[in-house]
Amino acid sequence: MTEIKIQDFEAYGNWINNQDESADNVESINVISPYFDKKIASIPASNSEHLDYAVEAASAAFLNWSRTNIRDRAQIMSRFKSIIENDIENLATIIALDNGKTIEDAIGSIKRGVEVIDFAISMPNVLKGESSEVSPGINCVMTHEPIGVVSGITPFNFPVMVPLWMVPLAITAGNAFILKPSEQTPLAAIKLAEYLEKAGLPKGVFNIVHGAKDIVEAICDHPKIKAVAFVGSSQVAEIVYSRSTQKKKRAICLGGAKNHMIVVPDADVDSTAKGLLASSMGSAGQRCMAASVAVGVEDVDHIIDQLIKEANQFKLGIDMGTIISKASLNRITNYINEAEKMGAKVLLDGRKAKVPSEYNSGYWIGPTILDYVNPDWACATDEIFGPVLSIIRVPTIEKAMEIENNSQYGNAAAVFTTSGEIAKIVTDSASSGMVGINIGVPVPRDPFSFGGWNESKYGHGDITGVSGVNFWTNLKKTTSRWPESSQEWKKYF
Ligand code: NAD
Repeated sequence: MTEIKIQDFEAYGNWINNQDESADNVESINVISPYFDKKIASIPASNSEHLDYAVEAASAAFLNWSRTNIRDRAQIMSRFKSIIENDIENLATIIALDNGKTIEDAIGSIKRGVEVIDFAISMPNVLKGESSEVSPGINCVMTHEPIGVVSGITPFNFPVMVPLWMVPLAITAGNAFILKPSEQTPLAAIKLAEYLEKAGLPKGVFNIVHGAKDIVEAICDHPKIKAVAFVGSSQVAEIVYSRSTQKKKRAICLGGAKNHMIVVPDADVDSTAKGLLASSMGSAGQRCMAASVAVGVEDVDHIIDQLIKEANQFKLGIDMGTIISKASLNRITNYINEAEKMGAKVLLDGRKAKVPSEYNSGYWIGPTILDYVNPDWACATDEIFGPVLSIIRVPTIEKAMEIENNSQYGNAAAVFTTSGEIAKIVTDSASSGMVGINIGVPVPRDPFSFGGWNESKYGHGDITGVSGVNFWTNLKKTTSRWPESSQEWKKYF
């Protein structure tokens, strides 16, 4: 376990034109470390005037940046990647301090984000355009053009990875970007801004405005912001999608999730137990790909026994970090209390987990496993966003698929089996954007794109891969025909 020491960061302003700009006449938002229950920094609760300033900076930078050669833009991304990799432990410590992840978990999440930078570095290949002689003497060339000033709004749970789903693609495509990071975990985004400056990104191309609801609404409404990407809860995703599309913006808004893992008795016991555990408890269950429901078909007791054995080895502070806030911790505990009252069998009780003594004021809860859960109970339908796995017992695979497909969400689904036939039937029927066979966290790695279905996403397309590039660009089709009138050129032959 890498030790995490409390640090005092400064009172930050917004990041505009490659520098920290104090935001006057606004309230501050305190950034609290969930390891220590202590304030470690503050950020401004910015308003529309601060946004105007950021948009002005981004608009001024856009023309030159969009005309900068794509190879030069990709070169800056290449330097950005190296700077992150050389400072990864420091960046991970910052994530741990305001988010509560372990250092190891934070490093893993940074690496996943860096994969999107790799894709951005390869964008000269994606953006090379297409050309064809569409009729004799007439040529058509199709190119991807940047949109202008664009924005991204991100959640608390992946303070580097989620901004990296957006920023590298959007700016390498030639746009100028305004990021609104989570007010709970803004510190790593400020570090990313410093890295981008160090990598040679011209001023105004990447900016940060801090704050909460007011600044998000201002972003949705601003006439000069052409596109908005959002990642967060479904409730806010829906608001941001409606508000920004009403203002004629392009929008993609990724929301929450309730993911299911169907467990068939023929599944490999060891790897299934490990898969169920990693998916439900990894990142303390605070990720949109966490599967928090296991639907056991017929008798899967041998797999559940192994799962409990493995889960008992889990140590807080080593295998799992903290919960983001006191309010979240209370919400999670209430779900467990409620399920217990309804009659769930508590196989493992995270409320009684041993808290690491050096962080005993932190927001801790251990892995919790609830058995014989009814599919209609809140713990089986709501996104708990904590380390709680509900097990539902069903007699048939049809019933398991019905439960999976009844969810209003559709981010991820998984099946654990050694039968190819069962795997095919379940994956064919899954109403989810990302499906795993014997994989509990089926995040599609590049070049495949990330995105769910149903209420896990508002808007069309996915956020990464070629789909992400399409989101951040407009297609221009230029058709040309040269008049035959002048024969001057022939004299050179
Ligand atoms: P959240 O929706 O509370 O906040 C996300 C962003 O919206 C933040 O920047 C926040 O400042 C802003 N915001 C919050 N309330 C707002 C309001 N009323 N009006 C306007 N803006 C508002 O989400 P969170 O708690 O930070 O993150 C957890 C959620 O994010 C979970 O639901 C999780 O599933 C989801 N998430 C989804 C994905 C995905 O890829 N689908 C990835 C990561 C997280």
